[in-house]
Amino acid sequence: MMMISAQEANTIIVNSIRPLSRVTISIEHALHSVLAQDIIASGHVPPFDNSAMDGYAVRSDDVKNVPCVLKIVGEIPAGVEQQRELRTGETMNIMTGGKIPGGCNAVIQQEWTECLNDSKITILKIVDKGHNIRKAGADIQKGSVVLPSGTRLRPQQIGVLASLGKQFIEVYRKPSVAIIATGNEIVEIDKPLANSQIRNSNAYTLEGLVREAGGEPKILGIARDDRDELEKKLATGLTSDILITTGGVSVGKYDLVVEVLKELGVEIKFWKVNIKPGMPLMFGCCRDTLVFGLPGNPVSAMVTFMQFVTPAVRTLMGDSNADVLPKIYAALQHEIQKTDGKRHFMRGVITNRQGMLSVRTTGSQVSNILTSLTNANCLIIIPEEVTHLRAGDRVEVEMLS
Ligand code: AMP
Ligand code: MG
Repeated sequence: MMMISAQEANTIIVNSIRPLSRVTISIEHALHSVLAQDIIASGHVPPFDNSAMDGYAVRSDDVKNVPCVLKIVGEIPAGVEQQRELRTGETMNIMTGGKIPGGCNAVIQQEWTECLNDSKITILKIVDKGHNIRKAGADIQKGSVVLPSGTRLRPQQIGVLASLGKQFIEVYRKPSVAIIATGNEIVEIDKPLANSQIRNSNAYTLEGLVREAGGEPKILGIARDDRDELEKKLATGLTSDILITTGGVSVGKYDLVVEVLKELGVEIKFWKVNIKPGMPLMFGCCRDTLVFGLPGNPVSAMVTFMQFVTPAVRTLMGDSNADVLPKIYAALQHEIQKTDGKRHFMRGVITNRQGMLSVRTTGSQVSNILTSLTNANCLIIIPEEVTHLRAGDRVEVEMLS
């Protein structure tokens, strides 16, 4: 199968995806879900004109010449409706969030007044009409589309839903993501290590990445490099919305994952992408299940997940911005050379020195060093055609979570 570019790989993946079915959930469980409905405001936010300050409700015509004295005829704490109208020469002590009474068209903040006694106040400054009044609907107008379908819900969107009294909303279902580690040398984390064995770290890194992307991970354990065992485990994995495997997709004698997936009816869409690390990445589909064969090296597994699986999870969840990652650029602290024509994702450390972002690599970029990821806070992206970068050159950077 031909090697394709990272961009072609992303296009193939996104084009293979339709959003999952819709479910109704309560907003308390909605963080990171994606709206499957337009949210239309059933009322204004704020619902009524209210005061932006603690101060005094006035008629602006009354305070054209200052200092002037007004009679205090009432109090308006937040949450209390004042029935009485404000007449000429009168004022009321109003609190932040208090409902503006009839007749009032400005609020003078307390700091611009001087109390004479319980029933009289001196106004020290002139204010315009509307001063300190937060108008009904200034934030959200009744009937407007506040959050369109396809919006990923961050905490602040959930707050907006709450302000509209929307307790239940329609979102796209979160994808279930099965994670299978493969390899004769891999053992579970609660087992002692025998000679020539290593622990299954990938499944746990991937579990966290799946959660962060918004999916629901399920670790299905380890399959040995054995056809029967792979077949059994992979068949179980294929009942999820996404199946992720690690290891066994290279060209070694015991790299059987792709073969067994094919036997199970997975249509391989690509195998090998022109990137480093992560070149042996495989992607396929089986009915509605997306299958990602990630390379076994921990760094390759994480990098390929971030580049290819995260956008897939988000697209499945109906996110209309799945492929729009914010781009950050930083100045390289040292030179970089490469000649392989691959797109490189280098582990880096980005720092902010007086507002200037600069970045360096974590050193050796071999893909089996787990701590190179824990020491890094970003990936530096070096495009395919670039061969030489000097210190000070601008490079694209993607933040690691
Ligand atoms: P493979 O792609 O199967 O040849 O694996 C590449 C490298 O990644 C080998 O050194 C494996 O031991 C290592 N590896 C594979 N799976 C895991 C895993 N689940 N956790 C940690 N390392 C792994
Ligand atoms: Mg292996």
